Amino acid sequence: MGKKKALVAGGSGFIGSFLCEKLLAENIEVTVFDSLVTGRKENIEHLKENESFSFIECDIRETLPKVDPFDFIFNLASPASPKDFDQIGSYILETASIGHQNLLKLAHQNQARILYASTSEVYGDPLVHPQTEDYYGNVNPIGKRSCYDEAKRYGEALSYVYKREKNVDVRVARIFNTYGPRMAPNDGRILPNFFTQALASKPLSVYGDGSQTRSYCYVSDLVDGLFLLMTSSEEFPTNLGNPTEKTVKEVSELINHLTGNKAGVNYHPLPENDPKKRKPDISKAKTILKWEPKVTIEEGFQKTYEYFKGLT
Ligand code: NAD
Ligand code: UDP
Repeated sequence: MGKKKALVAGGSGFIGSFLCEKLLAENIEVTVFDSLVTGRKENIEHLKENESFSFIECDIRETLPKVDPFDFIFNLASPASPKDFDQIGSYILETASIGHQNLLKLAHQNQARILYASTSEVYGDPLVHPQTEDYYGNVNPIGKRSCYDEAKRYGEALSYVYKREKNVDVRVARIFNTYGPRMAPNDGRILPNFFTQALASKPLSVYGDGSQTRSYCYVSDLVDGLFLLMTSSEEFPTNLGNPTEKTVKEVSELINHLTGNKAGVNYHPLPENDPKKRKPDISKAKTILKWEPKVTIEEGFQKTYEYFKGLT
């Protein structure tokens, strides 16, 4: 038996690059499709020498390159930062619709299993806390975040249509806030912003009054979860995230303390429909995948700090 083959769409992004490393370590051949819209070649530079790794620059919204059949398709391709929602909303919607459909068709032709990287954003500004997979969410379908929330909800819907109509073997991961090295410094999400500001001895930009919460998962834990989900028999959406919940204000204090930044914080308007709280219920992943995060927020922030320090 030859090696298994995996396609990672979005593999030169932040999470995708760690997933490629994980798959190569599991002795799986990896091909990346990435348009580099938000990803960076530097993220995968160190993998290029590996003969089991290849990178193809392409946009999954277009006709896909002809390649040998895959066993596994991971679809992580999507801009993911709220900063992108104002700028490239139609690109995000097309990536989750036309792009994901192209990959579902490929999965059907290849008889491959396909995992869709969905998001906690499908729960919107949740009225159930912590969020369980059976919660349908509270999403504004026309607000500024809708190009992402509704795109991912559509991507999930499309996955299950392909499962029901064509028997495609689908997996759906609902990923909660994940952070770590290789996030682009200009990504716009909270941790790249805060580390970049702290390293420049500037005040951290807290949106709103900073009382909103998120739950932060270190990237190595997340990719372990993605791999376990892909290789499990679980066919329905599964939350992956770290239930350690912090307010934005608490995160700003942790980062100013860690970096020794004395500039404090300054306050900016809260973006439209910014969820007030978010925390995964990971009972399902714990039971079915025997998975739970191992890296504490202190360890994860330290590693991420070292990465951003290395860029300056
Ligand atoms: P990222 O922007 O670093 O990675 C996304 C990658 O997809 C980039 O390399 C980008 O160039 C590529 N891409 C986007 N559209 C494409 C297209 N049409 N064709 C080909 N490539 C395309 O972001 P990330 O944080 O690594 O997110 C990866 C995935 O995980 C995304 O689907 C995102 O929605 C999902 N997710 C991430 C988080 C998080 O907290 N990081 C949370 C929930 C879900
Ligand atoms: N946030 C902030 N300052 C920033 C960036 C983000 O206060 O410079 C807040 C944002 O309003 C949200 C939380 O941090 O409440 C997480 O934002 P992020 O963009 O990282 O991801 P989201 O979970 O909103 O998609």
